[in-house]
Amino acid sequence: MLEHKINQIFGDDEPGGFGTGWWSGVLSAFFGVLGFGAVICLHFPQLLSSPELRPHYPMHLIRLLIQAVIGGAIIFGVISAMLRKKKVLALTGMLFALGATLLGGASVPINEDLGNGPAIGLDWFLLDMLLMTLIFSPIEVLWPAYPRQSVFRSEWLNDIVYFLSTHLPIQITSFLILLPATQLTSTLNVAVISEAVGKLPWLVQFLLAILVADLAQYFIHRAFHKVPFMWRFHSIHHSSKALDWIAGSRAHLVEDVVVRGGILIPMMLVFPQSINVAYLFFVNFHATWAHCNFGPTVKWLEPYLIQPRFHHWHHTSQVESIDKNFAIHFPWIDRIFGTYYFPKDKWPDTYGLHEEKLPHGFWGQFFYPLTPRKPA
Ligand SMILES: [Zn+2]
Ligand SMILES: [Zn+2]
Repeated sequence: MLEHKINQIFGDDEPGGFGTGWWSGVLSAFFGVLGFGAVICLHFPQLLSSPELRPHYPMHLIRLLIQAVIGGAIIFGVISAMLRKKKVLALTGMLFALGATLLGGASVPINEDLGNGPAIGLDWFLLDMLLMTLIFSPIEVLWPAYPRQSVFRSEWLNDIVYFLSTHLPIQITSFLILLPATQLTSTLNVAVISEAVGKLPWLVQFLLAILVADLAQYFIHRAFHKVPFMWRFHSIHHSSKALDWIAGSRAHLVEDVVVRGGILIPMMLVFPQSINVAYLFFVNFHATWAHCNFGPTVKWLEPYLIQPRFHHWHHTSQVESIDKNFAIHFPWIDRIFGTYYFPKDKWPDTYGLHEEKLPHGFWGQFFYPLTPRKPA
């Protein structure tokens, strides 16, 4: 309903190609909201920035970035207002930029002595949203696998809510994700393995880490498909009827914590922290990319490294590929375990759940796995 309202307020019937003021309007509104949110974070850093990330911010660069985002909102707003008849997008972007500037802009000083108290990861949401959008949205617009699929396809807002839901409670989720692995590493002592692994060259360790993580991910993912109670949670990730980078963030919080926590157990037992951190960056990028509406494929690499077409077959509602392609990095893991399905050069025709209906909206889907089933 809200999505429909937003589409009505901001959309129009004019063409949306380059040079029509559409994309500049979208960018203006996007940068405006991000810039405004960032300035609010500067005002309330104790409450709105994650204690885990705070110490790592190069603040002079972050301030420059905030400045650039606010400036971008104004510049794109002016361009869009000149080119397009409907000026709501441009005005929204410029109003948020004006609001951000009036509130002190990028130079709001941070006076508080910041402690480790409870906080919401608004900073993490804004930063990751900006980064992911800048990396993946242009390639989806320029080289889509499904050219008729819009960036603002059905349920786009729902998936942004999912993106929010995994970023805002980062303090709680990262605690829960780390808990089993930290407990185990303190009781289990496998120093022999970690010392041996630590002697290998960095790149070898990193590739090994991807393999260990993907093997763990494979079995947890397969269990989420095969165990009926677990499928209730994972079916939400499969409910997207169209895939793009933001559709990849549609996952139940319970699944998110179980999968990430489960992968970290072997990782933290075997690899040093620098490798695990590097892997976290890699998986954030690679798993998101696998969901992209991005057509080009490096053919010779397809048997070795997962590209979007492979994971798209995992998301199809076509029976021939249901419960196939569980790996997220290495497709040959599925070959080894007999769950590989990858027709040459073809993309699926349909996506989503096969003969299963889920409630719409974040909260309906949040409580869906816990509501009692009617007997079939
Ligand atoms: Zn799945
Ligand atoms: Zn997926």
